[in-house]
Amino acid sequence: MENMNKPKVISQVVDNDLCIGCGLCTYACDSNALSMDWNNEGFLVPTLSSHCDDDATCISVCPFNPNPEKVVKDEASIANIFLNQDTSIDPKLGRVINTYAGYSKKYRNTSSSGGIATYVFDKLLNQNIVDHIFCVSEGQDAHYDYTVISSPKDLTSSSKTKYYPVTLASVLDELNHLDGKVAIVGVACFVKAIRLAQYHDPSLKEKIPFIIGIICGGVKSKFYTEYLASKVGSESNHIKHPEYRIKDPDSVALDYSFGCVDLNDRHHKRIKMREVGDMWGTGLFKANACDFCEDVATELADISLGDAWIEPYKNDGKGTSIVITRSPLAEQLINNGRTNNELNIEELEIDKVIASQQGSFNHRQDGLYVRLEEAKKKGLPLAKKRHGKKPVSLDIYVVQKLRRLTRKRSLEIWQHVDSAVDFDNKMEKTLSRLRLATKVTHYKRAILRRVKGLVK
Ligand SMILES: Cc1cc2nc3c(=O)[nH]c(=O)nc-3n(C[C@H](O)[C@H](O)[C@H](O)COP(=O)(O)OP(=O)(O)OC[C@H]3O[C@@H](n4cnc5c(N)ncnc54)[C@H](O)[C@@H]3O)c2cc1C
Repeated sequence: MENMNKPKVISQVVDNDLCIGCGLCTYACDSNALSMDWNNEGFLVPTLSSHCDDDATCISVCPFNPNPEKVVKDEASIANIFLNQDTSIDPKLGRVINTYAGYSKKYRNTSSSGGIATYVFDKLLNQNIVDHIFCVSEGQDAHYDYTVISSPKDLTSSSKTKYYPVTLASVLDELNHLDGKVAIVGVACFVKAIRLAQYHDPSLKEKIPFIIGIICGGVKSKFYTEYLASKVGSESNHIKHPEYRIKDPDSVALDYSFGCVDLNDRHHKRIKMREVGDMWGTGLFKANACDFCEDVATELADISLGDAWIEPYKNDGKGTSIVITRSPLAEQLINNGRTNNELNIEELEIDKVIASQQGSFNHRQDGLYVRLEEAKKKGLPLAKKRHGKKPVSLDIYVVQKLRRLTRKRSLEIWQHVDSAVDFDNKMEKTLSRLRLATKVTHYKRAILRRVKGLVK
């Protein structure tokens, strides 16, 4: 390694902890000098494996490239290129044709939310729009990985949400060896990387005519899975088949469980996530890069899918999806499903779609102000952001700072403890401060709402 050039361009992102592990840099890297490896925080990152000519191609597809070309400078500019047919622009959701809430009658039970992702893939394969699907299924070296599925009957094996690091590193290479077209599913930053690759290599636009975007509240380290395994009473590295979203059809949508098979006694063990505590609002085990991503609604996909965390849908434990169509093909697939009764789906006002992800908008777009200030002070290389320009109030500022601390400490502490019990003890002080600060913001909001009501 000593005689090798350092890949300066991609190390700007990796060394500054802004890499999300999408791995497209390894595909774009002319010299094939990059490969993916686990870092000490449980994320996949590119590492140098042979001589690097450092010609900057690899960073051109990086979603966190601090110096992008002007025409692809942010999600809005990239959407102008790829999603300009029949769309109108919403400042929070991006380019939109229509918005819905509903579920697939066939796939709801075997999916995380309403099963729309699996339904759309089924239609794409059955109507020969694509020949293969790149989706996330059980992996060989890791719990989960991107794999190729070419038959609709195999699709349910890839359904359900995996809160586990995956990478597209090998996917585009594989694409070159496959005949026909491919549809891909990904979270926002992965979808952005694919769009950037398509911008630089238009043949990829032909090859990948459809992208499903998974609305994402943050990518978790593999420590998250280890922690949950320990929570169910297993050794954290001695489990199989982790399942993150086991529904309770008799309860509300949020009342889901984590489960896995313990390799010691071969028993299936599970725990209700409400017993584990808040894993999302706290930032526990989250990638640093996610705190610098402002794309809540996966703005660059043909169709974006998330959970309908609003009334009345959230009361139904069987799960309901929110759907944002952004390309005519996506709109047509949803409309056909509605007409032929395969989907139980209704139009949903944009305001309600936003409300279903309100926490994520508050954190990722408004709260970004606090992290941009931090980045400026530390001299972190970041591309210009569209949000986070307005200063936040002191109470929100404190919550944001405590979330940053919680995120960082969780990744440090898990490296040095043996069990979830030790982890919980070591995190208690930080988490209780965050809980208190969060309560203050909630009280303040409630008082303001009441005062506004009186003034009216
Ligand atoms: C890391 C992460 C964070 C999320 N955060 C939010 C959130 O804040 N708010 C919200 O409303 N929804 C969030 N979701 C999305 C939600 O959990 C559902 O995945 C989504 O609603 C689709 O549900 P479905 O029933 O239509 O999908 P299903 O029919 O169950 O299919 C799921 C599809 O997603 C793919 N998939 C699973 N895991 C991953 C992964 N890690 N990366 C890429 N593709 C994957 C599968 O291969 C499959 O094709 C998140 C998902 C992930 C993976």
